[in-house]
Amino acid sequence: MAILRAVPPAPTAAVSPLAGYGILLGGQTIGKGRNVILSTLHKSLKEKVPVLRRCFSGATLRPICCSSATGDYPLLADARVIYGVAPAMGHNRESHPESHFRVPAIVDALEKMELDSKSRVNEVFQLQSVKPASLEDIMLVHTKSYVTGLEKAMDKASEQGLIYIEGSGPTYATSTTFQESLVAAGVGIALVDAVVDASKITKNPPTGFALIRPPGHHAIPKGPMGFCVFGNIAIAARYVQRVHQLKRVFIIDFDVHHGNGTNDAFYDDPDIFFVSTHQDGSYPGTGKADEIGAGAGEGATLNLPLPGGSGDFAMRTVFEDVIAPCAQRFKPDIILVSAGYDAHVLDPLANLQFTTSTYYTLASSIKQLAQHLCGGRCVFFLEGGYNLQSLSHSVADSFRAFLGEPSAASQFDNPAILYEEPLEKVKRSIQQIKHLHSL
Ligand SMILES: [Zn+2]
Repeated sequence: MAILRAVPPAPTAAVSPLAGYGILLGGQTIGKGRNVILSTLHKSLKEKVPVLRRCFSGATLRPICCSSATGDYPLLADARVIYGVAPAMGHNRESHPESHFRVPAIVDALEKMELDSKSRVNEVFQLQSVKPASLEDIMLVHTKSYVTGLEKAMDKASEQGLIYIEGSGPTYATSTTFQESLVAAGVGIALVDAVVDASKITKNPPTGFALIRPPGHHAIPKGPMGFCVFGNIAIAARYVQRVHQLKRVFIIDFDVHHGNGTNDAFYDDPDIFFVSTHQDGSYPGTGKADEIGAGAGEGATLNLPLPGGSGDFAMRTVFEDVIAPCAQRFKPDIILVSAGYDAHVLDPLANLQFTTSTYYTLASSIKQLAQHLCGGRCVFFLEGGYNLQSLSHSVADSFRAFLGEPSAASQFDNPAILYEEPLEKVKRSIQQIKHLHSL
């Protein structure tokens, strides 16, 4: 990994993007904030030990403090959604689509639509204190030379404001990128802990949603790529195998781009099934139908490139004819989801025609699949999605699906902007995959 060139620091935003994100900021603020939260936790513990203890992971003693407007700390097992927020406010480049405005836009929408933890005291939990992922966690997926090289590059990023990393797609880094990327991966791990622990005491545990950045599914074992620094979902998959002894992990990636990093991390692994839908020919150009895994992992990777213009019909058919039967045959212990919202018709980076309604259907269907196959254990990880409105509305409607409430997509979706899907091409692509994978 080498530094290509430096660019000047971006000007400070007029309105501080840091407001309201206390402990989950990058750099040194994290440790300071965590201490504050932990001292609050100690005080709370004296008063609420019997209930709050349920918010700790038994396997790891990782602190999972869940917020509640009343301070009553209802049982996590009764919640329908648990989410964590890691907006990576210091990892930002002005005018870049993968910006620090993305996660706050989602959080604002959840608050306005009364889908956040403060509005839904018993149903929606937010992780309040999360440990950054350890280097050991990260190196279950990434090479030591990449991880240590990136950490060292932070000095240069501090001096120069912002750097690009050679051969990475391009991926930028600022002085806080390393630490904030550890926090993002840590939120994914903490959600896995919470959902797995809840599944031990209920058949209907909450669905996890990691509202994190930088995204992860393009990051390859030996480096960053395509705006992604660490493979958050891949790291969580290895973690759940190692710590929770959940061997069989089913990963669904519905981002508009191929999840090449996750693909590469598990290409020869028969215990991690990776299915990716993406727009044919889009970045990074990998993920052809005949890329099906190798060695012992042959058949445990399913790539389904969709023709440009594919939309709601395509994705519903893919779910029913490909994803669900694949998962039923694989018999997973947990389902993890690379949830990218850049296949939305309004997204600027691609040309598919998913709608907010498509994302509601996907979230609802995946939750049901997890309930049917693996005790409801399911965690979503934010990947792409660059139109802040369609991104935040689609995530909000996913929350409604997890809550078992009707979709509000009709208030946002505009059918007049949709054009006819290439139905014959879509059907041919699906038939080809069903043939290749004997479905
Ligand atoms: Zn994407």
